[in-house]
Amino acid sequence: MTLASVQSRIDAALAAAGRSAGAARLIAVSKQQPLDRVEAALIAGHRLFGENRVQEAAGKWPDLRTRYSGVELHLLGPLQSNKVNQALGLFDAIQSLDRPSLAQKLASAVQKRGHCPMLFVQVNTGEEPQKSGVIPDNADAFIQQCRSMDLTISGLMVIPPLDEEPTLHFALLAKIAERNGIGELSMGMSADFETAARMGATYVRVGSAIFGDRAQS
Ligand SMILES: *Cc1c(COP(=O)(O)O)cnc(C)c1O
Repeated sequence: MTLASVQSRIDAALAAAGRSAGAARLIAVSKQQPLDRVEAALIAGHRLFGENRVQEAAGKWPDLRTRYSGVELHLLGPLQSNKVNQALGLFDAIQSLDRPSLAQKLASAVQKRGHCPMLFVQVNTGEEPQKSGVIPDNADAFIQQCRSMDLTISGLMVIPPLDEEPTLHFALLAKIAERNGIGELSMGMSADFETAARMGATYVRVGSAIFGDRAQS
């Protein structure tokens, strides 16, 4: 696939579900991709990107941002507390808020800066031990806790278990968002972004379907 064909599949899925055009924004996931592929997307006019690691993003995006205006960058991977300040300097959104200690670090760093990125709470809907995210039973309390620290939670993010039908996980994420008054849903990757777009995603995160296979790290 190409960036343009992924975008047109999203448009078609939104239309089929009776959702408005542009209701789900495409995050091009550029982690572990050769720079020329990322630049091709920038040259084609795409501006919304996702990265998994602070260090990797720090190595490429400050330079790319000087050459392409209007870039919006989302952190999708786990954030270590000692990298919070660096992350705040790099990212417009953090989609992996997953624990009280991180919320606390963010809250105090944000207060010093006077500026907060868009925040998403990651929910581990499959309750997989190896995966980050709050489990569904703890989501409401965690969201409340973040709000009590004056953090605005804009959205929820999910990575469903690899071997399971994603629809149940997407539906569960939407339900948790709705009961907490949260508007943004980050769900759907290369294998299931059309399903996610039909089911209410406001952000889909697509890497390999746009850029091809990643370099192994
Ligand atoms: C890598 C990654 C993606 C993109 O995965 P693809 O299968 O290449 O589309 C999306 N979301 C997160 C959190 C990721 O780590």
